[in-house]
Amino acid sequence: MQDKIYDVIIIGAGPAGLSAAIYTGRARLSTLIIEKEKDGGQIVITAEIDNYPGSLPHESGPSLIGRMVEQAQRFGAEKVYDTVVEANLTGDVKRVKCKKGEYAAHTIIIASGAHPRPIGCVGERELIGKGVSYCATCDGAFFEDMDIYVVGGGDTAVEEAIYLTKFGRKVTVIHRRDQLRAIKSIQDRAFQNEKMNFMWDTVVTELHGDGILESMTVKNVKTGEETVIHANEDDGTFGVFGFVGFLPESALYADQLALRNGYIVTDDNMHTEIPGVFAAGDIREKSLRQVITAAADGAIAAMEANAYIEGYCLVNAG
Ligand code: NAP
Repeated sequence: MQDKIYDVIIIGAGPAGLSAAIYTGRARLSTLIIEKEKDGGQIVITAEIDNYPGSLPHESGPSLIGRMVEQAQRFGAEKVYDTVVEANLTGDVKRVKCKKGEYAAHTIIIASGAHPRPIGCVGERELIGKGVSYCATCDGAFFEDMDIYVVGGGDTAVEEAIYLTKFGRKVTVIHRRDQLRAIKSIQDRAFQNEKMNFMWDTVVTELHGDGILESMTVKNVKTGEETVIHANEDDGTFGVFGFVGFLPESALYADQLALRNGYIVTDDNMHTEIPGVFAAGDIREKSLRQVITAAADGAIAAMEANAYIEGYCLVNAG
């Protein structure tokens, strides 16, 4: 257990956590960021960020996050790579127990985001990294000139499918309805791409393979008809990328904070119901989960943490 009591502990180094760190750093609050694995959260597995103001044309997620990390460090935030296993959020001093150490702070900003939701079919778990992936940027190149299937119909699925056409000979989106959820501009790009194909009203029920993905069973949800798709003989395998939404990393806080559908409930100013505890970014219940909204949440949470420490209220402060 460290003796030091930080002003702020930020859990998660994605766009929400890093934005919070930029603001707490500039407010001269002693700040510790705890990151489980890699800086960046979901955006490190995003091939292209088109809609964050000021991002460079065709900028990748890792490039954008690299600049955010550099900016947060410039303002003095400390960072440890550790996994939170327990958090005691009540009281004036909050305590966070991790696998490698224990940390304490007067305020906590929970910005641990969300992880990809599994497709939910038989054989999926066994074939992760052996044909099944949730990251086009990481694994697309393994399927050079092979067939690639993308499951899902939202912005992520369709954008990542377009990116995967750089690698695959053909990319087929498998969607459970007959209309995409993705916004129109993304749909237009997908429909104009000659390598893109669509399998409508279809779900993946089983993935098969001995050590590597060799075939899959898909089912038409309207007719009930099942079809088995085999790998091209010369390739021996193919890629299945799941982009069917995300699940919030909130289980650790379920006994202390209010959750709705797994997301932490906050007010408009990122306050949870525990004084000094804030949530920001994709882990928070809200309508729009984007880099820009995560960054905005982080900034608000940071300034609210500052006000909490200084003992004043920001709202309507004039
Ligand atoms: P999403 O919008 O929740 O879409 C999930 C997709 O997966 C939907 O098409 C859904 O089908 C499908 N799905 C869900 N469960 C499934 C299952 N068990 N089996 C098969 N299909 C399933 O998730 P997302 O696309 O990851 O987007 C998440 C958030 O990030 C959204 O707010 C999105 O706008 C945002 N985002 C924005 C951008 C951008 O602006 N460039 C890029 C990426 C993400 P139904 O349509 O039938 O429900």
